[in-house]
Amino acid sequence: MNEESQKEKLRQHFARRVTTQARVVLDTWQKIHEAGDDTAAFRHDFATAIDKLVRYAQRFEMDKHASAGQQLLTLIAEWPASAPLPEELTAPVQHWVDELSRATLRRADQHQDESPRIYRRTPVYIALNNSEMAGRLIKQMEFFGFRASAFDKAEDLMEACALHKPETILMDVSFGGQADGGLDAIERLQERHDTPIPIIFISDEDGTIETRLRASRCGGEEYFYPAVDPGQLIEKIETYTHGNTVEPYRVLVLDDSRAQAKFMETVLGKAGMKAHIITDPMQIIHALEEFSPEIIILDMYMPGCTGMEIARVIRQQDRFHSVPIIYLSAEEDVTKQLHAMSLGGDDFLTKPIDPKHLVATIHNRGRRARSLLALMIRDSLTGLFNHTHTLHLLDQEIVKARQKRHPLCFAMIDIDYFKKINDTYGHPIGDRVLRSLSMFLKQRLRKTDHIGRYGGEEFAIILPDTRAEDAERVLNEIRERFSELVQPAGDREFSVTFSCGVASWNNESAQLVCERADRALYQAKANDRNCVVPAVD
Ligand code: GH3
Ligand code: MG
Ligand code: MG
Repeated sequence: MNEESQKEKLRQHFARRVTTQARVVLDTWQKIHEAGDDTAAFRHDFATAIDKLVRYAQRFEMDKHASAGQQLLTLIAEWPASAPLPEELTAPVQHWVDELSRATLRRADQHQDESPRIYRRTPVYIALNNSEMAGRLIKQMEFFGFRASAFDKAEDLMEACALHKPETILMDVSFGGQADGGLDAIERLQERHDTPIPIIFISDEDGTIETRLRASRCGGEEYFYPAVDPGQLIEKIETYTHGNTVEPYRVLVLDDSRAQAKFMETVLGKAGMKAHIITDPMQIIHALEEFSPEIIILDMYMPGCTGMEIARVIRQQDRFHSVPIIYLSAEEDVTKQLHAMSLGGDDFLTKPIDPKHLVATIHNRGRRARSLLALMIRDSLTGLFNHTHTLHLLDQEIVKARQKRHPLCFAMIDIDYFKKINDTYGHPIGDRVLRSLSMFLKQRLRKTDHIGRYGGEEFAIILPDTRAEDAERVLNEIRERFSELVQPAGDREFSVTFSCGVASWNNESAQLVCERADRALYQAKANDRNCVVPAVD
């Protein structure tokens, strides 16, 4: 190892010590948050943790951590010993904790106009009998930007859910040490919520069909047996926590009754969907073009034409051939319903509509429609855009950049010594690494960036409206952070690095910008790997 890379390794080592300590501080603050009136007990731990952080950060010259820590120490000095945290301190402490967490997670988003996502807003709750496993999961999840909390009592979990509805709950079937204790708790919990919280159940025993049915009926999306490793769980949690990251469904509603249409608009809006309402059937073509719906809801009987006729017109257009159409009507005659379905409809809802039923139907249809589309444009292992679609997006972004005279960057990433990972730990673990990098990129890049799986262990990133130096910095941050991530493999652990080439678009074709990024990537490999190299013009 040459001197330069040895120094870099040392620096990374120390940086890790500071970030680990920062996590201790963040954890303690989380506990203070959850302690209600009993915050006094945490004052000492919090102060000690921050003090240690400041010392480390100063020693290793990590200025952002040091200054956030110092601000926190000043604030804690105003917190009288053995008293609860004074209310007026909460907001300023939160501010500096946020700063600290930003410095620690170093999200790429923070440089953008969007408000910084320090954590995903809603938490993930973990209720496992094995608290050591819960602790390990929480640590791993933080790397992916999740905020997770563990509970060992059902009552505490209930209370936390009432305060902050979680994105998902990871639940032991035999929580609290009782057979079906977890199921009992979840059943009680879901009664209190209008829309069920997705649950991932895990169990030491293969459940009977009765147990599995119960689990599924109370919101169980998964039933893991035997217990799985953290990597697999985090992937699942990622799947069920898309609520905050995916676009809302675009739903077009055609109903000649203004009152009914308004009602639908309210219900769908409340469920976080984007509704576009029309009351005149003749507006349908225009609405399709303008709004480009993913789901269409049609009233069956309208003056001038029927919903079935409209459905046929919609189906005649290639683009809308597979958009789900849901009929809405007071028609209770099943024969007539079936006839309507045969004419291009996918579902039938009877008025008056139960809002829960409506929202559930749209969710199911929407999810199916999106997953069909995903089959065409996404890579099945990682869920990222496939090669063809990535290039298509690059073409589109080049057109936009040219129109708006905006900068644009294109980066290629290739995992270092990936063959060796496969050889040492096996292909499935190799696949897991690919998914973990893909999740990592998704979490750390902006929503407006496009991420594709370019080939085996190669990824491509399109960064619209981004200057070369910014792209380089963001990618370098991601590279550093990814190399710190612990990759579990049974009872072994390892870490992975990648190399990256990044080209700033200079009015050339997609092909040329790809070639330049590729050459820069080759250069990065030649420079000892684990680095980001800017392309030459
Ligand atoms: P370098 O640092 O030079 O990039 O070395 P490398 O070993 O990463 O590169 P090389 O191109 O020699 O090997 C890439 C390996 O990636 C070979 C192939 O078996 C593996 N690979 C490609 N696609 C997949 C996949 O979908 N899953 C798994 N597990 N491995 C894959
Ligand atoms: Mg390769
Ligand atoms: Mg490689």
